Order: sequence, then C-alpha cells, then structure tokens
Amino acid sequence: MRDNTSLKEVKGVGDKTSKSLQKLGLNTCKDILRFYPRDYVQFEPPVPVKSLRAGYTEAVHVKVMSSPKEKKVRNLSILNCTCADGTGILHVTFFNQHYLKNTLKTGGYYILRGMVQKKGIDFVMEQPKLYSYDEFMSKIGMLQPIYPLTKGITNQMITKILKQVLDNYLFETEYYPPELLAKYQLLPYKEATHKIHFPKTEEEYMHARRRLVFDEFFSFLFYMQKNKSYGNALKSNYIFFETADTVRFIEQLPFPLTKAQRKVWQEIQDDLSKETCMHRLIQGDVGSGKTILAVLALLLTVSNGYQGAFMVPTEVLAVQHYETIQNYVNQWNLCFRPVLLVGSMTAKEKRDAYEKIASGEANLIIGTHALIQEKVNYHSLALVVTDEQHRFGVKQREQLADKGKNPHILVMSATPIPRTLALILYGDLDISIIDELPANRLPIKNCVVNQDYRPNAYRFIASQVAQGRQVYIICPQVEEGEAEGLENVIDYTDKLRSLLPANIQISYLHGKMRSSDKNSIMEEFKDKKIDVLVSTTVIEVGINVPNATVMLIENSERFGLAQLHQLRGRVGRGQHQSYCIFISGNENPQVLERLQILEHSNDGFHIASEDLKLRGPGDMFGIRQSGEFSFEIADIYTDANLLKLAAEAVDFVLQDDVAHENYGQLYRHMEREQENYVDFRTI
Ligand code: ADP
Ligand code: MG
Repeated sequence: MRDNTSLKEVKGVGDKTSKSLQKLGLNTCKDILRFYPRDYVQFEPPVPVKSLRAGYTEAVHVKVMSSPKEKKVRNLSILNCTCADGTGILHVTFFNQHYLKNTLKTGGYYILRGMVQKKGIDFVMEQPKLYSYDEFMSKIGMLQPIYPLTKGITNQMITKILKQVLDNYLFETEYYPPELLAKYQLLPYKEATHKIHFPKTEEEYMHARRRLVFDEFFSFLFYMQKNKSYGNALKSNYIFFETADTVRFIEQLPFPLTKAQRKVWQEIQDDLSKETCMHRLIQGDVGSGKTILAVLALLLTVSNGYQGAFMVPTEVLAVQHYETIQNYVNQWNLCFRPVLLVGSMTAKEKRDAYEKIASGEANLIIGTHALIQEKVNYHSLALVVTDEQHRFGVKQREQLADKGKNPHILVMSATPIPRTLALILYGDLDISIIDELPANRLPIKNCVVNQDYRPNAYRFIASQVAQGRQVYIICPQVEEGEAEGLENVIDYTDKLRSLLPANIQISYLHGKMRSSDKNSIMEEFKDKKIDVLVSTTVIEVGINVPNATVMLIENSERFGLAQLHQLRGRVGRGQHQSYCIFISGNENPQVLERLQILEHSNDGFHIASEDLKLRGPGDMFGIRQSGEFSFEIADIYTDANLLKLAAEAVDFVLQDDVAHENYGQLYRHMEREQENYVDFRTI
C-alpha cells in the first residue's frame, strides 16, 4: 500500500464503510495514517463503587443484582439495571442496546467503564462499556486511541483499518538526514506513525507526537521561506495618493474610531504611500473592529482608481461583508462598485462577475477563495485583504494563478499570538495590533454551569427574546452518532421547539448544509425572522449580528478555549448587555477549572496564556487548539519551543550551499507536501 492507495483495498471496507469514511475526509492510506487520535484512554484498575467520583470516567467490577428492565420511549429503547459490589450500588442505563437484556444475567459479574454521575445519593453510569474481567485486565496500562467518528464508523473499525494499513504500507525512506534527526532528537517517521496511533506508554506517545509536530511546523515554515521572494522589498506597481473619500467616510461613521484603530489606519496609509508593497497583518481580538480598517484600505484603493479584493473563509461571511459595504455605499455614496464572488453562485452569475472584474466595472471584489480561481482575471488588482487569515493557507488544493502584479497585502486575524511566535509564523509580515475595544461596549457576563442549569437558561433565553434580543446556541455535532453523549444541532432544535414558547422562532445552521441554505438562514437571522439559532461552530468566524445578546454553548468541555472565546465574540457587539452561558457536560474539576478562565476574562491574550499554564506540550486532555493555522496535531501555544526549533532547522537547511545534494530526499518530500498548501499571500 502507498499514499494514494484507496481505503477500499483494505479488507473489510466495503462501499458503505468507504462512504462513511469519506465523511471524515478519509479516502486513502495517507489520509488515515494522518488521522490522529483526538485522545487516548488509559485503563486504570477498577475501583470500589463507594469511591467513584462524579465527572470522571472510571471502571468498577460489579455483580448484576436484578435483570435489566426495558422501557420504550418512542423509538428509543432504555435498559435500566442495578449493579453492586460489596461497597455500594450503581444504577446503569443503556440506550438502544436492546440485546444487552439477554447478555446481562442476574448474578453475573462484569467490569463496567464509563462516566460517573451522581443523582441524589446514587451513583449512575449511562452507556458504560462492558467487559469481562480478563478482557479488561489485559488492557490495563495500555493507551487506547480514541478517534473522531461519524455515523457508521466506530472506534474499533478505525483501529482495525489502521492496523492493516500500518502492516502493509510501504513507508518512504526517512527524509530527514541523520544529523538532523539526531540534533533535534526526532523519532524516524515510520516509528512515529506507528506509535502515535498505538503507543504503549505515555512516553512513546510524547516522542511520536514530538516528531510529527516538528514535521508539521517544518513543512509549513519551509514552504513559507521558499515563497518569501515576494518579501517586503518588493517594488510596488501601485502608489497611492491621499483622497478625501476616506476622511469623509471616517467623519460619517456613527462612532469615532478607537485610538488603536486610528494608529493602525495610519500604519496602513504609510505603507500604501511607499514605493514597496505592503505586507501587513492586523491582529485584534474579536470585536475590536477590524472590518472598518479593511474597508478604509479598500476605499483608498478604489478612490485611487484601482481594484481591491476582500477574501474571507466562508460564504456566509462574504455575504455579510458585501451587505455591510453595500449599505455604506447606499448611505454615503461611496465610490465602491462591489461584486460578490462565491462558490454557490450559478454559472451565469459567476460569468457576469468575471466580466465585471476583468473590465474593471467592479472595483471591489468580495468573496471566498473563489476569488483566486483560475477563471478570474483582474483589471487592476492593487490590494488584497484577507479576513480570518489563519483559516486559509493549508490543505486547499486549488492552484493559484498569478493574479495581480504584486498587489499590496493586508491580512486580519483574531488569533492572539505572542509576538515572538507571530514573527515566525507570519514570516515576512509587518504586524499591527489593535489592543483596545470600542468604548461603548458592556463587558459580556459569563457563567459556567452544568446541564442541570438548562431550565434556567431556557427561561432566561425566553425573556431576552421577549425583549427583542436574539440568541445563538452551539452544539458540537450536526447529527447523532459522531461521538457519544454530545448534543447535536438537529435533535437539539427539535427539543428546544417543544420547550420554548411557541411564538419563538427557532432554526438551525450547520456546515453540512448547502451554502445557499446557510446564507438564507443567516439572512433571516439578521432580519430578525429567527430568534434562536442553533448551530455548529460554523458561525464562529466573523459573524456580526449586534442584536444577538445570548450565546449558549453546549458541551463546552469539547472545545478549545480559543475557539470558545471566538464563539463568545458573536455576542457583545452592540449596545445591549450580552451573556455567554458555557454548559459543561462533564463535572470533572479540571474541566471546570479550564472553563472558568473564560468566566473571569473576556481578553483573548489573557485566555491564551492562562490556558497554556494548564496545558503542557502533548497534553492528553483531548482538546487541541485546532483551527489555528489548521495544523493537524501541532499547537502553536504548547509547542512553541518546537516551533522555534523547526524554524531554526528550516533556516539551516535552506541556507546550506550544498543543500540540494545533502538534502535531496528532504526537498523531494517537501515538494510533495507543498501540494497541501495554498497561501494566497503569493497572489
Ligand atoms: P472584528 O474585529 O471581530 O472583525 P468587527 O469589525 O466585525 O469586529 O466589528 C464589530 C462591531 O463593532 C461592528 O458592528 C462594528 O460596526 C463595530 N465597531 C467597529 N469599530 C467601532 C468603534 N470604533 N466604535 C464602536 N463600534 C465599532
Ligand atoms: Mg471580523
């Protein structure tokens, strides 16, 4: 088996399984080898019932006291059974596992392993896993990988497939030269791949992970350095002159720019009046008002007679920016002639847009990465602004055509990265920081609660809606079955419709919906036709509906703090008091301690650094700060040291005069890896 060998060639993978695997992005051997566990469990010996701890996953060795009783609720089968050891009683519930009725025999002994809950004075386990004594004891001390799942795919299926692939895959020879492996103490790639999936000990896991994190950083930085030719000294073809338009626009705005916004705007103007190209990153916390700066830079561009492009990661966001700017145009007669370009437009709509872009009839082009597709020809593209920059850049296979002639580049990000790391990750970009929120904001009020709090939360939501406000609710999955015990958007919406007053309009949004449907749902939410929007994290990126004042996040324990902070940033954007309710499905004190960081702070930088104190490199907490830069396994915060080492290694390799002879294998490997990267800064 090789990288591109289809998983259908693995024994036991038929059409149906292969379709489900595709939902997880798994088509080939390479895909599954890089499908890293999201967590590992380490089985500990069973404990006496009386010393169980609520909120922890634990195992007990118990006797079944009475035969299981089955209850049917609609099409759900609920099995209840009472178990005990010499020290106490445990109530156990199974959902939709009808067959266990005959398996669980009164008087039989089993090991049950699951999340412990305490209801009143009783201990309860829902959906525990069932083991025979011998089976369980043989697993003690081993790390068991836990993978992200989807309907039709179990953890066991993934491990089985992986074992086969690992046995039959032809690993390429190690691509780092031996001196590099030695210097940075890296495991060989083959060994690291085996051990990341099936580590025997925590130490093995840490070593394997270290190598793979290094690889991710190395190839990202290698790619960036290789493409640095467009660096700061690049001569600009577009020199800008001051115009009255931007001054007037700032005067017309209903609010004064913050001091930080004014400072950054000055930096942008300075850049644009130079003879070299601007390459600037604006870093500012959620809600700090980055969009206005993009609009100002774009306005200066069009009033100088050039074209500007505004690229964003999602269609919903593209539509939102388009409308915001269209509103400005209507209100204040700005000289923008905007056009929208997104994937879901019809062929004819796209053709129209292409024509307007090529002729220069449109001077502002707003869209997703459809903007950089081959068919788009620009008339005079002088500025490219990209919003939520960290979402782009990796794993997009579109090839970039050479669009403008060295346009100016402005990127915006809400990811709080310490300066030393930003200098590495953003290579040649100059960095501007907005370190202040608009003054009229009321700080968001936060609370971290458990699921028992839901009735209060729903009453609160109803009262906010009665006052004309709107609400977001976030669930970690789209539909049932992706992972056990997590809330999902579809069922939650149904449940909520039966619980909230009938006059409250509830709808849902998730990433698997068609783009046009997503857009129209967002449209209705903005027009206040929807009061409560149940959604996955698709709304995390940049959505701005200032009338929304409540954000309720289910299974908060499953998200990274950075991501939760971004989600919370969807509220608190207007003059009304806003609230964020973090519901945790887990009462483990460590989990709560982590969430409480958010309860006490609304500052992205502070949150990132506190989070770091609780986590260590390779932390097995099961939550990575994914999303940031789309690294699969690396975490820019906890792996900061490795990031620095990888940067040093890349410099070393690229500087070596005889590099190509010594590092031929490495260069070839990197070239193959580069296919995964698209960085629109090279536009
Ligand atoms: P982000 O930095 O998260 O992209 P936005 O640019 O979307 O934030 O701005 C959030 C909200 O704040 C918008 O409704 C915007 O109009 C408003 N806003 C921006 N700058 C200011 C300001 N100086 N004073 C008051 N409100 C502002
Ligand atoms: Mg934004």
